[in-house]
This record gives sequence, structure tokens and C-alpha cells, in this order.
Amino acid sequence: MLEVRDLHVFYGGIHALRGVSLKVEPGEIVTIIGANGAGKSTLLNAISAVVKRRSGTITLDGQPVASVPHAVVKQGICQVPEGRLVFANLTVRDNLMMGAYLRSDRAAIASDLEKVYTLFPRLKERINQLAGTLSGGEQQMLTIGRGLMSAPRIMLMDEPSLGLAPILVETIYEVIAEIRRRGTTILLVEQNAYKALAVADRAYVLEQGCITREGVAADLLHDEYIRQAYLGVKREKAGAGGRCGVE
Ligand code: ATP
Repeated sequence: MLEVRDLHVFYGGIHALRGVSLKVEPGEIVTIIGANGAGKSTLLNAISAVVKRRSGTITLDGQPVASVPHAVVKQGICQVPEGRLVFANLTVRDNLMMGAYLRSDRAAIASDLEKVYTLFPRLKERINQLAGTLSGGEQQMLTIGRGLMSAPRIMLMDEPSLGLAPILVETIYEVIAEIRRRGTTILLVEQNAYKALAVADRAYVLEQGCITREGVAADLLHDEYIRQAYLGVKREKAGAGGRCGVE
């Protein structure tokens, strides 16, 4: 469905992505795990055309992904950004409707709004509340709900659990699983490797701009290197990380 091949991104002299290639198949949850600064947000921002692509190809069903963000959304790719970016002075309902601003199918929009409310009853209770006055967890729900209102085929989710209390992390991950059950494919980047690997079908490890490991998520959850580097499990014997292959 989504294919990224040999993607390089530069910010001036910083080589943030160094030949990243990955695939996401229809109906999958694929996760990219990596530490701070590994390039996770850059990868999503490159797919959604928020950052300039320096080289490489990105395709959706074999067709090139557009080079301007609104056209990417029209193609069915929607990014849920890191950091709960809501329109603080708009109500919950208006924030959700902003997600549908490129759509004109009014009946389907109304039905999608109801579906978002079934996923997030807390948003329905706060329909007329200004988004800036929501709690952090509610704002995270709102950014996911707003993304769903664009009726995406694939959602790019950037650290949805960041800064949330454990009980809300559970809620957000239940919702991610439910969104996939309802038919949307998901590419999820996370520092919370345990939750991400537990929900995903497949995973890639991004280190310093390179994919260093990939595989079935359940297998990586038990991989010695992953356990030490990303799951906080104490070292029992030496295990080597993957290699970048790029100097
Ligand atoms: P985090 O988990 O901390 O959000 P990340 O894996 O998402 O990190 P990125 O935000 O993609 O990492 O950053 C990758 C590298 O690119 C970092 O070294 C960062 O400093 C750099 N970078 C990101 N955005 C810019 C920018 N706009 N200008 C210059 N450098 C940038």
C-alpha cells in the first residue's frame, strides 16, 4: 500500500534520514521505534510532504505520493502530529470538522463524526468546549479524531502516548487497535516501544536515520537487543545492535 524507498532528508548539514526503505500493507499496523532524534517525526513529515524530500520515492498503491500536504491528505494519507496540536480557540466539534475540510460528502462526514464520538465518548460530552481547555489526554483524543475526519486510508501517528498517564496510554492503544479493526491502516512511530510492539503487526527500528532492524513485532518484543535498548531490560549477555551501513 505505502512504500518508501531509499529516502534521504537533510536539514542543512544534518543528514536526518539516510536511505530509509519500508512498506506498509493494507490493514496492517506497522510501527517505527527509535530513540529521541532518530528521525521518526522526520520520516512521517517526509511522507506527508511537510518536509522537503531530498531524494528517494514514496508511493501509495504504486502512485507517487503528492508533494504538498493537502494533496497528500486528498490521497488518503493523514498525519496525527506529535504534541496534541489542536486549534485552541475552536470548540471540540469545530476541531473535528477541520479534519473534514477537504471533503464535501456531507452525509458521510456526519456519519464519521458519530463514529469518532463512539470511539471517544469524552469528546462527545465536551462537544462545545474550547479545545485549549481540554486535558492533555483529551487533546490527544481530539487530534486522533480530527485525523479520522479526513476519512484516511492510512494514518501516520506520531508518538500518540507521549506524556500521557498510563491509564490514558491504555485507552489510546485500545483506540488504535479499534481504528485498524474498522479498516484504517496505521503507521505508528513511538518511543514507547513496548506498547507499540504489542499492538503492531510488523516493526522497524530507526537509529540515527537508518533502519537497523525489521521484523514481526511479536518477535522483536523478545529480541535481546530490542529488550535492552528499548524495553529497559537489563543486559544478560552481549548483544549487538543492527548496523546502519551508512557512514
Ligand atoms: P523525538 O522522538 O525526540 O521526537 P525523532 O526521532 O522524531 O525524535 P526527528 O524530530 O525526526 O527525530 O529529528 C531527527 C534529527 O533531525 C534530529 O537530529 C533533529 O535535531 C533534526 N531536525 C529535525 N527537524 C529539524 C529542523 N526543522 N531543522 C533542523 N534539524 C532538524
